[in-house]
Amino acid sequence: MKITDSPLPSSIAIVAETGVIPQATAHYRKRLSDLRGLFLDPAALEQRIRDENDPVCYENYAFNNGKTEGDIFFGTTIIYPGKVGLEYHLTRGHYHRKRDHAETYQALSGRGLVLFEREDGTTCTAELVPGKVTYIPPFWAHRSVNTGKVPLVFLWTCPVEAGHDYEALRGRGMRQVVVERDGCPCIENRP
Ligand code: MN
Repeated sequence: MKITDSPLPSSIAIVAETGVIPQATAHYRKRLSDLRGLFLDPAALEQRIRDENDPVCYENYAFNNGKTEGDIFFGTTIIYPGKVGLEYHLTRGHYHRKRDHAETYQALSGRGLVLFEREDGTTCTAELVPGKVTYIPPFWAHRSVNTGKVPLVFLWTCPVEAGHDYEALRGRGMRQVVVERDGCPCIENRP
């Protein structure tokens, strides 16, 4: 890229409570019916799709000003509170297509967890709360979970060329799940 082709510096507004980025270049919503196969309890999922007219589970805004390697882009994810059976609302989860590319998450409001796993079978989790930055190192798949009673809004920042690989986790899900036990979030191995 030539100096004269590069984007100009800017400050982009984000509404912390809702996650809305008015100048977003992309936006999508995922309803519960888009997340079939990801939850532990498929019957509970179908019941909520019927009873609640297929509610939105999460949405995503992106601001992508740059297209060339070395640039970054960023956006917000908003996970609405709720559970499917005992399991808290979650995102699909993905590896980066370029496995050696990292990312950061920063919660703006609400609270939750990030589930991590690597292709060698290692798993771990990290908090996603205001006042902390969650570092997603290279080679770790990541899925976010809203364990609170209000929307979880977080800012993600990522290299533009990282890419998303949703296929590697499809049909199997992640090895760990977050369920409510006695009113509290509990991280367990998938049965
Ligand atoms: Mn990512």
